[in-house]
Amino acid sequence: METRIKLGISACLFGEQVRYDGGHSLDRFLTDTLGKYVEYIPVCPEVECGLGVPRESMRLVGDPGAPRLMTTRTGRDYTERMLKWARKRVADLEHRNLCGFIFKSNSPSSGMKRVKIYNEKGVSAKKGVGIFARAFIEHFPLLPVEDDEGLHDPSLRENFIQRIFFFKRWRALLAQKKSRGSLVDFHTKNKLLILSHSLKHHQTMGKLVTRAKDIPLRDLYEKYQNHLMGALRLRTTIKKNVYVLQHMISFFKKKLSSDEKQEFLEIIDQYHRGYVPLLVPVTLMNHYVRKYDQPYLKEQYYLDPHPMELQLRNHA
Ligand code: SF4
Repeated sequence: METRIKLGISACLFGEQVRYDGGHSLDRFLTDTLGKYVEYIPVCPEVECGLGVPRESMRLVGDPGAPRLMTTRTGRDYTERMLKWARKRVADLEHRNLCGFIFKSNSPSSGMKRVKIYNEKGVSAKKGVGIFARAFIEHFPLLPVEDDEGLHDPSLRENFIQRIFFFKRWRALLAQKKSRGSLVDFHTKNKLLILSHSLKHHQTMGKLVTRAKDIPLRDLYEKYQNHLMGALRLRTTIKKNVYVLQHMISFFKKKLSSDEKQEFLEIIDQYHRGYVPLLVPVTLMNHYVRKYDQPYLKEQYYLDPHPMELQLRNHA
């Protein structure tokens, strides 16, 4: 279990019967597929702050910047109770080495975006953030977060999973004794993955690593982490991936035959046009890397960022 990625999860998505009506919102992809690589830490804010099951349903009311958590029928206000519990819970979670959190969408406690919030006339707008989700995100601004709805979108799912695997590698580096050599090694292996998120961050981080010996170690790690997390927050796009794939050809110099090069360029073009998924050019590139034993590319996480079974990079 130690090598698994630790993720917080809304307990109802994990299958716990904690919803207001005694049900759950089990998500089989999260438990059965992603669950093979993840150790979940389930959190149900409403149950853990002392509300029972079943209980009256709740909603957010008032100012989107500081909403109240009220029961729907009787209008009881649980805001203070939830806020007090949430502050303590996020502080406890600091010791769990989380690499991210998967929230239940549309919940006044756990929803991380576009939660319905009601005004005094009873009219709703999807502008709210659940009380616990907000406390969590404010406490852990660098951690990858997503909700179950977002994870049904192939691009958001891919981005989130790529980030948690990335985060796990970063945490593993932080667990070792700090050294410039380890940081440079980490950067070297993750370079193309960073480039697929942001050319700007890739350049800035490259310059930072080049000056590594002139920067105090602690500052170096801190600055690197800030740039890294900034890069990961930016989503990869087809255009960015095309840039990375084209960049990779340059590592073969004259080793690729003109037919192989032409084949690869054609596949990149098909990916660019949306005819084939990213998995196709990446698989072909992996084949060339093995065939010609290209030392730099074979170390790149870009070519193997997460287990195949998760079926990411598989959508055109
Ligand atoms: S959405 Fe959050 S508060 Fe509601 S049942 Fe699920 S975990 Fe509990």
